[in-house]
Amino acid sequence: MIVTVAATAPSATVASILAAASATRLEARSTDDGHGGTLIAIHGALTADHPSLDLPGVTAIHAKHQPYMLASREFRPHAPTVVKVGDVRIGGGRPVVIAGPCVIEDREQTITGARLARDAGAEILRGGAFKPRTSPYAFQGLGEEGLRHLAAARAATGLPVVTEVMEPEQVDLVASYADMLQIGARNMANYPLLRRVGATRLPILLKRGLSATVEEWLMSAEYILAGGNSQVVLCERGIRAFDPAFRFTLDLNAVPLVKELSHLPIIVDPSHGTGKRSLVPRMALAGLAAGADGLIIETHPTPDSAACDAAQTITPTDLAAIIRSGRALHAALLAAASDVPQNAPALAQIAD
Ligand code: PEP
Ligand code: MN
Repeated sequence: MIVTVAATAPSATVASILAAASATRLEARSTDDGHGGTLIAIHGALTADHPSLDLPGVTAIHAKHQPYMLASREFRPHAPTVVKVGDVRIGGGRPVVIAGPCVIEDREQTITGARLARDAGAEILRGGAFKPRTSPYAFQGLGEEGLRHLAAARAATGLPVVTEVMEPEQVDLVASYADMLQIGARNMANYPLLRRVGATRLPILLKRGLSATVEEWLMSAEYILAGGNSQVVLCERGIRAFDPAFRFTLDLNAVPLVKELSHLPIIVDPSHGTGKRSLVPRMALAGLAAGADGLIIETHPTPDSAACDAAQTITPTDLAAIIRSGRALHAALLAAASDVPQNAPALAQIAD
């Protein structure tokens, strides 16, 4: 049940509804609606004639909602979530580019790569210190040493950093270095990990599982939101399909669908989504055309020598070209917004 309470309601109204839910042992959460009012999501329903639903200021009651009530668009219909990573706003209208190597290799490479990424127009630096590798014999990342290099690159460039955390026990350590925590595709359904990052107040980048449905993915976001952390960015990174020509298949359908279903920002990863360097620029632009709030792209000063995912890693020069074209495309999309009514919510959001 989602209850809308007007800005002018007495404060006792929200408190009474929350108390009524708790007395009935129903989970409930409230949030501002972006216009001074309050939305209350209750998992389950108070009886339609419950007196708290008759209090002054209750303006609407939706008995039915998506199973991911906090992640659903109905929970924030007028104010899509904007996630702040350092001073960078994701979902704030202007697409944001996150770039950097798949894995942190050494201090110099990290700092050099970060400078090149920043000069190309990237606003957030990525790089893995703890890597989920398919083979136990593959390079697993530098661990805390990698986090220190990432922090040094942030100090050198001013770029905030995002890096993956794989285990609940690692969260405090990674959070002490990172500006944003990445939950990788392989851990999208690691519920203890989701609960643990839900207990932090750091922004979370939640990648879609390799074969997760959009609903399963939004339910994973719900775990984080239910823990009280509202700062979640979704990332479409390709799903497993039948054609070995691609490492994964970027599911761009998911982008406008997520915009319809949820208030959370969504970015696109054309690197893992294709697995192929030559396809990255086009699919990056396609992601923006689909309405993404940003991109995450694997870049390296010398991609062929990258210690992980070299085949899908691009140069800073190619990154700069993508960002230039992306800006032009974004401007064109805004100009065309009125001609593309089916994309109106996403484009209207871009215009905010
Ligand atoms: C990554 O971003 O480096 C990564 C491992 O991605 P994914 O979890 O999407 O495979
Ligand atoms: Mn990678």
